[in-house]
Amino acid sequence: ADRLLTARALAELSDIRVGQGFDIHPFTEGSAVTLCGVVIPFDRKLAGHSDADVAMHALTDAVLGAIGEGDIGTHFPPSDPQWKGAPSSLFLAKAVDLVRARGGMIANADISIIAEVPKISPHLAAMKRALSGVLGISGDRIAIKATTAEKLGALGRGEGIAAFAVALIR
Ligand code: MG
Repeated sequence: ADRLLTARALAELSDIRVGQGFDIHPFTEGSAVTLCGVVIPFDRKLAGHSDADVAMHALTDAVLGAIGEGDIGTHFPPSDPQWKGAPSSLFLAKAVDLVRARGGMIANADISIIAEVPKISPHLAAMKRALSGVLGISGDRIAIKATTAEKLGALGRGEGIAAFAVALIR
C-alpha cells in the first residue's frame, strides 16, 4: 500500500498542466493604460468593461485554461455591472484561488505584450512585482516581454494592445 501511495504522490507531482491565453483591447479617449496592474500615463486608455488590463486578462485565461475552468468571460461576464471598472487583479486572483483549491501551484508564467505605444520597458519591473504579488510566486518565475508589431496591421498603427500568456501549473 505504501508503494502505491508513493506512486500516486509521484504521479500527482508530475501532473503538469499548461494553459495559454490571448486578449486584445482597442484604445479610446483617456489618460492612462493599465498593464499587469501598473498604471502607465498615456494620451489614451484601453477600452473595456473592467480596467481593460489586456495582459492580466490573457494571463487569467492562461491560468484558467491550464485547469480546464472556462475563461475570464464565463467567470466575470462583461454584462455583469459589478465588474465595471474592476481591477483585473481580482480576476487573476480568483483564477489562482481555483488552482490552489485543486491542490495546484503555478510554476511559471510568461507574457508577451504587443504594443506600438506607449513605451512599456520602463514599467516592466513594476509589472513583474505586481504579478508576483497576485500570483504568489517569485519574480524569477514570471516573464513579461514587450514588443511592437513593426507598424503592421491595426496593432502596428497603434490602435490598441494585444497580449499572449502561458502559465504552467503543477
Ligand atoms: Mg479583455
